[in-house]
Amino acid sequence: MTLRTGRHFLQIPGPTNVPDQVLRAMAAPTIDHRGPEFAALTVRLLAEIKPVFGTQGPVVIYPATGTGAWEAALVNTLSPGDRVLCFETGHFATLWQEMASALGLEVDFVPGDWRHGADPAELARRLDADITQSIKAVCVVHNETSTGVTSRIAEIRQALDDADHPALLFVDTISSLGSIDYRHDEWGVDVTVAGSQKGLMLPPGLSFNAVSDKALAASKTSRLTKSFWDWAPIIEANRRGSFPYTPNTNLLYGLHEALGMLAAEGLPQVFARHARHAAATRAAVRGWGLEVLCADEREHSGSLTAVLMPDSPDGPDADQVRKVILERFDMSLGAGLGKLSGRIFRIGHLGHFNDLTLAGTLAGVQMGLEIAGVPVDPAGLGAALDVLRTP
Ligand SMILES: *Cc1c(COP(=O)(O)O)cnc(C)c1O
Repeated sequence: MTLRTGRHFLQIPGPTNVPDQVLRAMAAPTIDHRGPEFAALTVRLLAEIKPVFGTQGPVVIYPATGTGAWEAALVNTLSPGDRVLCFETGHFATLWQEMASALGLEVDFVPGDWRHGADPAELARRLDADITQSIKAVCVVHNETSTGVTSRIAEIRQALDDADHPALLFVDTISSLGSIDYRHDEWGVDVTVAGSQKGLMLPPGLSFNAVSDKALAASKTSRLTKSFWDWAPIIEANRRGSFPYTPNTNLLYGLHEALGMLAAEGLPQVFARHARHAAATRAAVRGWGLEVLCADEREHSGSLTAVLMPDSPDGPDADQVRKVILERFDMSLGAGLGKLSGRIFRIGHLGHFNDLTLAGTLAGVQMGLEIAGVPVDPAGLGAALDVLRTP
């Protein structure tokens, strides 16, 4: 085993670095999940979490990863054969629509180039063409973690409203919640899907559905098979501060601590911090002479940046660069997923993060590119520091 000193740099876009105070909170003894102390914690948590989603409505917490919360959104609201419209923004959007098909839904998959978000104009065209209003739900990944592109959810909502179309709106915020501005109620989202291990600064293992009144009403007549994911018994038990199964007690201690940290910093400040770190990262990438994958200035992700490798037949691929950086500098970067495998690497800059963490991250990336033999302009790091020097 190689001897490592100092901390590993976990700069993948999730799981993210868990703050020490969250780790300490989770190290408390596990308590009786049917006892009074736990009931008080549950009631407090279910209130504390609402502002992060921007909702006054119920938030359902599952002891599962984000994938489970995707399934919960679909099976609670829809019936076999229902038509859903999904946008191919990248790898995660592709997985979500595959799940919808596997569950017996009819999926219209709007093709995309993995460099843009969901297109509100294309949505408007599809809704206008849907004379019988047979589309029951629209699924959008807010921040596509495989590409570093953030879809414009307010404009997606506007397209639904302009078409006066009753489809439910489902949004995956697994890598945006607590990092990028998001408003469940204001944007009329019906189910928001989230997970613990990205912007919420927790280990994997919790996921969430924020649920609108319209989605709750749809759940009364939905006929897809559900048992564990069924909102009704969970929301019912939550009223008494309990769950219909054993909740992951210690992760919930951590969630309470993490929500306290986000509230103390203030959500607008949290979003501004992420946007500034994303801007500094893009300054570095462009300074190196490389290209950011996201092709629309309005859609740059605050939580991660995907970097395109230069088109060079004999140069190293992105995975070789990541390997050099891991071996030499003990830093993990995100790999290209699906059809972007080997063509990009992803720099995570979300969660528990500050200016010098970013400076160290970008220094490691620059050195790794140089060592791997990618021709880069070393002025890239300085361009990022220029952004960071400005408060
Ligand atoms: C991480 C991620 C997922 C998958 O979540 P799991 O917790 O791994 O199940 C889905 N969608 C997005 C946008 C993600 O970032």
